[in-house]
Amino acid sequence: MHLKSLEITGFKSFAKKAALSFNTPITGVVGPNGSGKSNVAEAFRFVLGEQSIKSLRGKRGEDLIFNGGAGTGPGGSGGGSRPNLAGVKAVFDNSKRMLNIDFDEVVIERVVHRDSSNEYFINGSLVRLKDIAELLSGAHIGASGHHIISQGEADRILNANIRERREMIEDALGLKIYQYKKAESERKLAKTEENMKSVESLRREIAPHLKFLKKQVEKVEKVEEMRGSLKTLYRDYLSREEAYIKYEKARLAGEKAAPATELAKLDADLTHAKTILSQSKNADAASREVIALEQALQTARGEKDGVVRELGKIEGEISAVSRAITKEREKQSRDDSKTIYLRDVEAIVKRVFEIDSLDDIRKLLKEFVATHRAGGGSADSASAIADFEKDSRDLSAKKAALEADLKKASEKEASTNEEYTALRQKIELEKDTNREAEKNVFKIIARQNELRGVLAGIKNGEDRLVLAEESFKRDIEDARILVGREAIDYEKIEFGATVSVADSAAVSTARHEQEDRRRQIEKIKIRIEDSGAGNGADVMKEYKEAEERDVFLARELADLEKSKESLVQLINDLVNRLDVEFKNGISKINAQFQNFFSLMFGGGNASLEVVREKKRKRRPDTDLDLSDEAMNEEASENMEEEEEGEEGIDIHVNLPRKKVKGLMMLSGGERALTSIALLFAISQVNPPPFIILDETDAALDEANSRKYGDMITSLSQYSQLILITHNRETMSRAGVLYGVTMGSDGASKLLSIAFDEAVAVAK
Ligand code: ATP
Repeated sequence: MHLKSLEITGFKSFAKKAALSFNTPITGVVGPNGSGKSNVAEAFRFVLGEQSIKSLRGKRGEDLIFNGGAGTGPGGSGGGSRPNLAGVKAVFDNSKRMLNIDFDEVVIERVVHRDSSNEYFINGSLVRLKDIAELLSGAHIGASGHHIISQGEADRILNANIRERREMIEDALGLKIYQYKKAESERKLAKTEENMKSVESLRREIAPHLKFLKKQVEKVEKVEEMRGSLKTLYRDYLSREEAYIKYEKARLAGEKAAPATELAKLDADLTHAKTILSQSKNADAASREVIALEQALQTARGEKDGVVRELGKIEGEISAVSRAITKEREKQSRDDSKTIYLRDVEAIVKRVFEIDSLDDIRKLLKEFVATHRAGGGSADSASAIADFEKDSRDLSAKKAALEADLKKASEKEASTNEEYTALRQKIELEKDTNREAEKNVFKIIARQNELRGVLAGIKNGEDRLVLAEESFKRDIEDARILVGREAIDYEKIEFGATVSVADSAAVSTARHEQEDRRRQIEKIKIRIEDSGAGNGADVMKEYKEAEERDVFLARELADLEKSKESLVQLINDLVNRLDVEFKNGISKINAQFQNFFSLMFGGGNASLEVVREKKRKRRPDTDLDLSDEAMNEEASENMEEEEEGEEGIDIHVNLPRKKVKGLMMLSGGERALTSIALLFAISQVNPPPFIILDETDAALDEANSRKYGDMITSLSQYSQLILITHNRETMSRAGVLYGVTMGSDGASKLLSIAFDEAVAVAK
């Protein structure tokens, strides 16, 4: 027993809570017309998720809520309280897990509010309609309602078009779950394809940028390559340049040393020579000194000569005095008395002093003596001798003094002469030295000029080297910036090691090669600059990011492609499975259909056929209903173009003993019987937990009612039956009977009743 109970609150005519328990295989619901029996069947449809308010005999959701009794307006006296919502609960025994949910009892509930909003619950938890539909479809009690046959709908399956029939049968066969899965997969597929499209368009959007970046990266890589060769070139160039500069420095320093030293020495020599020459300027002073010395010498000589003359005069006087003495003494001896007056003598002395010439002095003195001899006497001779001797003594003293003077004068003359001679010699010597010095100065200056020329050449070389060094430093900086530290991390080489210092040709060849290298470097530098590649690292980073993004998108696309494939596969599988199970189900139903049909009609044939809907292009606005074979035939005659459409179910009947073929030709009762046969056949193949039949038996006569009753009994072995009926035969088959009555308040009431009561109530 799967369906346990139904609880109706505020739904349609059920103003107050009413509950039905389904403890027997067959439950009958009986009651007079308009009491609310069909509302019970509708309560089932409602709670199982029926979305068509129309099929629940309403226009809006509000119509499903109890709105007061007939004849009494809203809030009227007879209606009692009016609920704001209608709710129906269906309680299932799920101990056999008929419903795919892990509860022994499942309560499905639906509530509709006045604003037509609906709420669905499973075991009290708010859920979506979809959840209810999926849960129920697993138990073959889906929304198509094939197991709930409403009043006047006994031949619903016959009236339905082939597509609707197919849906009903699919539902009954429990294939709806595959349909749901298929629809779900198709939705997912559409979503996947949509995602693929957006990923593809994203990739398309990225593509040009990526292409641009790739080109940039290629440029950067090219530049990197150029930098690589630039590095090698730089290393080679710089190491050689450094070695060259070192070598040149050493060479120039070496070349410079000797001339520089010589020049320094020459400077000293020149200074010396110049000093000598400047000293010659003192020659004038020396000349003046010589002249002065000459004068001094002359003076000294003059003085000496004077003294000599004086001395000679004194010596003459002395000899004159001594001769006079001698003469006197002789005269004394003969003429001692001769007297010479003093005044005469003094006069003569005075005259002597005035005469320079000795001869004159002698002549004077002879005359004096002769004069005085003639008149002399002996008395005077003695005093004369004494006077002479006195004179002689005076004169000798004078002479001694003069001799001392002479010595002095001679000495002075000698020393002055010596001085003079020394000075002269010195002057002579100086003259020689100066001439030599002059010659030297010219020689030195000439050599100096020569050396300066050499040094200027060297300086020129040094200046060039300074420039080369500066340029080398700039190159190092350039290399560092352009290529990085590696470029300047070159191996040091010794220039002299590869090129002989003496071999200037080799040096010049090396310089040429070096210039070639330099040109090469410049060329590459220009090419790097011209490449216009921006910051390599940035470009690489951006490219990497863009590429990663693209790769990510490609992977995403591949994933989507994969899930698309698996979805397509799943859909195909589902379609195949549906097809197989559907056709399988149809053949099983056909066997049962034939069985029930011949039971009902005592023979004849009935079968279902899977057909394809025909689409007509000529009249596209025509509402297609291919349920009618005749029409179908007619249509196929008239239509020129036909297309294969959806699969559907056609019904073929062949009544016994009648030439009647086709549903159109059946009577109302026959239609009802055929319909019931098919319904029962379907229910036999895949029994739903319960079947609700609302006056399906209304059109049956007594004989057929019995057959109907028999079928119900056998059907009740597989499904619970809830039968709304006025039929006595049907009532007799029910284990429990509920009576529905409606009071003056317009509200339906439910009560469990006995068969006899039911028969009475039904009438
Ligand atoms: P019959 O035997 O003639 O088929 P029935 O017992 O099946 O009758 P129903 O069709 O179930 O009767 O009930 C119809 C009754 O329900 C009507 O009297 C109608 O007024 C009442 N009804 C329908 N909707 C509402 C509603 N929203 N509020 C109150 N009463 C309602």
